Amino acid sequence: MDVKRAGPSTRAIHAGEIPAELGGGVVNPVVRSTTFYNAPEGGGEIRYSRYGNAPNGVLLEARIAALEGAAACVVVGSGMAAIGCALLSLLRTGDHVVAAEALYGGTRTLLDRELTRLGIETTYVDLFSSDWEEAFGASTRVLLLEMPSNPLTRVVELASISARAHARGAAVVVDSTLATPINHRPLEHGADLVVHSATKYFGGHSDVTGGAVAGDEARIAEVRARTSIWGPALDPQAAWLLERGIKTLPLRMERHNRNALEVARWCDGRAGISRVHHPGLASHPDHEATSRVLDGFGGIMGIEIAGGGTAATRFVRALRLAKVAPSLGGVETLVSEPRHTSHVGLTPEERERTGIQDGFVRFSVGIEDAADIIADIEGALGALAGE
Ligand SMILES: *Cc1c(COP(=O)(O)O)cnc(C)c1O
Repeated sequence: MDVKRAGPSTRAIHAGEIPAELGGGVVNPVVRSTTFYNAPEGGGEIRYSRYGNAPNGVLLEARIAALEGAAACVVVGSGMAAIGCALLSLLRTGDHVVAAEALYGGTRTLLDRELTRLGIETTYVDLFSSDWEEAFGASTRVLLLEMPSNPLTRVVELASISARAHARGAAVVVDSTLATPINHRPLEHGADLVVHSATKYFGGHSDVTGGAVAGDEARIAEVRARTSIWGPALDPQAAWLLERGIKTLPLRMERHNRNALEVARWCDGRAGISRVHHPGLASHPDHEATSRVLDGFGGIMGIEIAGGGTAATRFVRALRLAKVAPSLGGVETLVSEPRHTSHVGLTPEERERTGIQDGFVRFSVGIEDAADIIADIEGALGALAGE
């Protein structure tokens, strides 16, 4: 059968796999060799780990490309390496980037402190305002955004935004870490490159760091030209773990989507919680757009604890199942307060302006039983009320 035409769950397990051979392993082996025999007369492709053409990386790239509906993919050692090399492939000194305000902290630092050293400037825009296109100039080459955003899970109309960016001569780069290709495939909506922190849902078990960039052949060749020289190669063991993780990505996302929605619905209107941010709730500003454009609402949920920052910290401390840790996308439920993690560099006023009040608690809802996650939240709210 043609695996590329198969459903996402079949692709997640079989795309790029080594053809079956009598006596061969069902599971792809880890090939640790960094170099591979050449013909004495030379010629042909030189295979070397840093080039990303060793077996485990090649298979992982085929797997992710198949899920994103992309012609090609490059895998690298972290999500930041993926974003960095994707941007380097599109930008030169003097170029300008337009970026959505709500970005991962590391990405923001990359734009503000690293790309500026290369003479590349960024203007931040609110993609929900009517005047965001005014930020574009003659030297604008890239529009960068995350979808859904973190932690407010805002979702834009990517197709129309991409069309407008293209009309201005800019390429569209989408960080789709929170969506994964199970919930959204940005390339189908006009994006030119999609980037992932594979550390999150792809790996899915909080035990491996990696990144990926997917797009058409020409654009990915440009990204690979950067990764093979800047050198953020993915180790074969990490590639193997990511490939293994991706086999259950559709199954896990189904549960993340369902659990987060169930937990969000339970929290909605609950005493002690002043607001719930989850795109599956009708009260979310992008509920309609998310329902129409995405295939799932995702596993991220924000709640605002009535009583502000001090109460939120007491609430978080009273949780027993959910663990306090800054990452997301693993099987386990993790919780964090953005004011201590992703938004630590902002003043309370700045945080309030970005829509993240002190008191905001972010959940990366795991795949445990939803009833247990809810009982944990209920217990912590009870502890807070009883203090
Ligand atoms: C974690 C994360 C990154 C960075 O990925 P690393 O694998 O930690 O380098 C980038 N974007 C988003 C949305 C993330 O959540």
